[in-house]
Amino acid sequence: MAFDVDFFVIGAGSGGVRAARIAAGHGARTIVAEESRIGGTCVVRGCVPKKLYVYASRFADEFADAAGFGWTVGETAFDWPSLVAAKEKEITRLSAAYRANLAASGAEFVEERATLAAPQRVRLASGREISARHVLVATGARPTLQPGFEGLEHAITSDEIFDLPVFPQRLLVVGGGYIAVEFASLMRRLGAEVTQVMRGTNVLRGFDDDMRAGVRDAMVRAGVAFRFGCLPARIERRAGGTRRVALSDGTAVDVDQVLVATGRHPYTNGLGLEAAGVALTPHGAILVDEGLTSNVPWLHAVGDVTDHVNLTPVAIREGHALADRLFGAGPRPIRYDTIASVVFGTPELGAVGLTEAEAAVRLEKFDVYEANFRPMKATLSGSGERAIMKLIVEGKSQKVLGAHILCADAGEMIQLVAVAMTLGATKADFDATMAVHPTAAEELVTMRAPSRRFDGGEWMA
Ligand code: NDP
Repeated sequence: MAFDVDFFVIGAGSGGVRAARIAAGHGARTIVAEESRIGGTCVVRGCVPKKLYVYASRFADEFADAAGFGWTVGETAFDWPSLVAAKEKEITRLSAAYRANLAASGAEFVEERATLAAPQRVRLASGREISARHVLVATGARPTLQPGFEGLEHAITSDEIFDLPVFPQRLLVVGGGYIAVEFASLMRRLGAEVTQVMRGTNVLRGFDDDMRAGVRDAMVRAGVAFRFGCLPARIERRAGGTRRVALSDGTAVDVDQVLVATGRHPYTNGLGLEAAGVALTPHGAILVDEGLTSNVPWLHAVGDVTDHVNLTPVAIREGHALADRLFGAGPRPIRYDTIASVVFGTPELGAVGLTEAEAAVRLEKFDVYEANFRPMKATLSGSGERAIMKLIVEGKSQKVLGAHILCADAGEMIQLVAVAMTLGATKADFDATMAVHPTAAEELVTMRAPSRRFDGGEWMA
């Protein structure tokens, strides 16, 4: 059967664009469709603008720290519309670069919603239908508005917060995950009074417990007011736009905005997947095999829409691997075991591999190495900042199977620790590596004795 194209990609985010460019480079006739703005969540309303706002927020710490180093900083003021406009300019530049790169690869880009019309047939919003040998769904995820409570429509998500016309002087953040922590931390530094509520007893469930405690302490030092085990019960919009939020602990807070950051769900609604017989999880994620193909052999999925590892670089790597497998020299293996991720609070939390709690479940024997210290800069600035690092070392092989870093620039450090771990580095390899002095990272190669040892299912004295 002759097809109009070899490859139809639905979604021009990180995963979809990479897959399309690589496929086109292999000579596949490729179309990418996008209903929103090219670049996807990461570029338009996620990682990139978030990091720009994190940079903006850290000037507050720099101004405060400067006095300890002899500086007198004059009066400072922050202007939210200027930041939003500067961010917008950069996102526009990046979107244009995405578009140019796609065009240069030979892939066609259409700015329309695309859905499945029939097997191996895609329908665009304009009504145009295109037959495709392979279809890739790379539609990502959308914020989930949960839990349901009265007045939820008066809350915003991370999709809206970047472009608020007015800076919220009082912000309630709901949730304790990546997005909630990052925004609570950055908005506080930009000058907002921030209250953060969550159903759990601490932030960042799934991360190492000592790091979670360190993140919480740093946020408290920055002035974030936490209410654990507490969620909104009702939001009432009042005159002037204020939101009165009744909380489950019986108290109420008046704020200018409520940011709900309680997870994201795969964006598969209305794509026609069920009619095509594509198997989905109860959350609507596309189930794929190791090759990133669904139960329907011509339909593939990469990135957040599979709800596997919801991180931009994973989507990019998956898109690349899929295009190579379908149209190139063959599959490129993807390593999922040493994926580092970073929570961009201040300081940053970088993590790769096993947490201490996971190690206690999965390993027979391991050592925990730790460092907890005052970073050099804090000695003169007088800030209460702490740096915390932890290595999890498997007992028999002595391989480093987990690394956790909470300190300034942890994102930069954890990337390189992940390289070492991908190479199978042992604790002895870390020890044999000469320190770079004076840095915080040198602590990673100078941890001499374990602080705890786990053996045969028990902690040793
Ligand atoms: P997360 O999964 O990180 O956190 C969700 C939070 O919402 C948790 O605190 C969770 O609580 C809470 N929650 C979930 N369901 C409910 C509910 N029904 N009622 C009350 N609370 C609830 O999601 P995010 O939205 O923060 O981020 C989505 C994903 O985006 C991340 O998992 C990550 O993959 C990606 N991301 C990555 C970033 C990075 O790499 N720096 C930055 C931002 C996003 P509990 O812990 O109790 O389940």
